Amino acid sequence: MARKYNFNPGPAVLPLSALETAAKALIDFQGTGMGILEVSHRSKEFTEVIEGATERLRRLLSVPDEYEIGYFQGGANLQFNMIAMNFLPADAVADYVDTGTWSSRAIQAAELVGKVHLAGSSKDEKYRRIPRPEEIQWRADAAYAHITSNNTIYGTQYQAFPDTGKVPLICDMSSDFLSRRLDVSRFAMIYAGAQKNVGPAGVTLAILRKDMLERCPDGLPPMLNYAKFLAKKSTYNTPPVFAIYMVGLVLQWVEDNGGLEVVEQNNDRKASLLYGIMDDDPDFFRGTAAADSRSKMNVTMRLPDEDMEKAFLAEAADRGFVGLKGHRSVGGIRVSIYNAMSVEGVEKLVDFMKAFRKNH
Ligand code: PMP
Repeated sequence: MARKYNFNPGPAVLPLSALETAAKALIDFQGTGMGILEVSHRSKEFTEVIEGATERLRRLLSVPDEYEIGYFQGGANLQFNMIAMNFLPADAVADYVDTGTWSSRAIQAAELVGKVHLAGSSKDEKYRRIPRPEEIQWRADAAYAHITSNNTIYGTQYQAFPDTGKVPLICDMSSDFLSRRLDVSRFAMIYAGAQKNVGPAGVTLAILRKDMLERCPDGLPPMLNYAKFLAKKSTYNTPPVFAIYMVGLVLQWVEDNGGLEVVEQNNDRKASLLYGIMDDDPDFFRGTAAADSRSKMNVTMRLPDEDMEKAFLAEAADRGFVGLKGHRSVGGIRVSIYNAMSVEGVEKLVDFMKAFRKNH
């Protein structure tokens, strides 16, 4: 079978070695005579899977001891709600920066619970950039501050993280988690749906500083209470066993391939190949993100007109490049180049782009 060059925005391409290991484990997981989908979530084997994944993540990101790692269901969308339910008392205010669709969703979720202060926004500029530090007004009395590190739809990404002083910084890293080295200690909480860089859909990873857990209100249902859920090591109920297993395999792949330093180098290389051809021919491949806010995960562009974009997508698909259509809300072309997309895959795509340009 020929595998496609898969540029899907998420769920997205996964490392082949992880898929191959998982394929075997579907039938026989570690010689148990049962498949991974069939083992108990209370078994010794699965306990090793979840603990192993957590240890790998700790190693890869040098997660300090004062942080807990959890595996949640309900996607990043449920985190939007849980963050507010746990950390935003009704009489308090939280700072949010609106950099796109997912930030807006997070804001809407918080507004159901308490007050939101819009600390910064690039909505008026159709989200083509990340607000500059001097454009963001943080409140010193905010319960927390929330940002979206990478805006999957608009192709923008924070190049440096803001300093919110004593106010706990919470970050939705769904689409760039584990794509570069990271100083976890800058954050009170990081969360990410797994289905881009870390695994399949069905599990959302969160790293929480322990002092935040003291804020969780007792009245919340245990499944929605970070402190209670984490006290049960993410197994308050039946966790998404297979998704967590896959996350472990992907983390192993990252470690086996040199860790985050190598991942970051490869991601830099892939992004510079794509932005390079766009900068060489900006009238044909017109980048939609401002140069100072360009994402290294989702590279967004427009071609001269919509017919040309349709032709581009069709010809690309004929050559095995799939998943390149921009989000339905913005149109255009989006090249998602998550960790498991090889440099070679991007080189091939860039060759195709050059040939397409020439022929049209
Ligand atoms: N945040 C970001 C940055 C995303 O890209 C997405 C999904 N594309 C979400 C949140 C929503 O994630 P989920 O579907 O897991 O709820």
